[in-house]
Formats: sequence, C-alpha cells, structure tokens
Amino acid sequence: MNEITLTIGKQKHIALIAHDGKKKEMIEWCEWNKELLRKHFLCGTGTTARLITDKTGLTVKAFNSGPLGGDQQIGARIVETSIDIVIFFCDPLYAQPHDPDVKALLRIANVYDIPIATNKASADFMITSRLMDREYEHTVINFNEVESDRLSGIC
Ligand code: PGA
Repeated sequence: MNEITLTIGKQKHIALIAHDGKKKEMIEWCEWNKELLRKHFLCGTGTTARLITDKTGLTVKAFNSGPLGGDQQIGARIVETSIDIVIFFCDPLYAQPHDPDVKALLRIANVYDIPIATNKASADFMITSRLMDREYEHTVINFNEVESDRLSGIC
C-alpha cells in the first residue's frame, strides 16, 4: 500500500503568509475572521505574523521572515505533519527574491495534500468550509514504502 491516511484534527494548525503588497489585505482578513481564527493554532512568516498579532491581537507564532527562510520553515512543518492549512496571500504583480522558496512551499503542500489558499476569495471559501470544525481524513504518499521500493530497485 503506497498511501497512508492522516487525520487533520478539529483544531487546525494554520500558517499565514502575505507578501508585502498583500499584508494590509491579510490583516483585514484576519480581523474579519478573528473569531473563527481564534479557535485554531496560528503561525506565520515573521513579518506577517508580527503584524497580525499587533493589529488584531491574535496569537500568531512567528517563524523567520519569508525571504530569510520562513516559507521553508513552514514547508518543513508540513512535512512533519504539524501544519494543516496554509493561507498565503501572494502578490502576482511583483517578483519575489525568494520565489524558489514559494514554489517549494506550493509543491510540498501538494505532496502532502494540504489545503492552501493563495488569494482572498479562496481563503474565504476555505475558512467558511464546514470541514473547518470537523476532523478530516486524507491520504498521502507512504514515503517509507516508496523509499523501500526505490532502495530495492537500486540494489
Ligand atoms: P514576511 O514573509 O511575512 O516575513 O514578510 C512573507 C513572504 O514570504 O514574503
């Protein structure tokens, strides 16, 4: 069996990220959804997390700033299954110095079947989903199996 079932709990671990051109929108979105967000565990890239905490009073654990590795830290937490959802307001009109990290985050979210909203409308649909206050089971690749298959093919 090359897949395993993972359960996302009722209380979600949500990562919040916003590029500079979208930070105001992210703060407004968090303020608007404050009561819903308060029920979950929040974290985010450095500047986004600090701004949300300052402006809304929500507790948001801050990783490094995005360009200094914060997106990669969030990607690593996805691999460890300690982040369940990503809300990422990305700015499509400006090139980012850490674009490779952003692409890596999107990829790893897909590898682990993690809900990831990259604009406000998607985030609105996601946060109002009936699944937000339920457990959710999903299947991901069983990396132990895949690895042992690969090893047995190699030697
Ligand atoms: P920041 O990072 O919250 O530290 O600004 C966001 C990003 O990835 O650009």
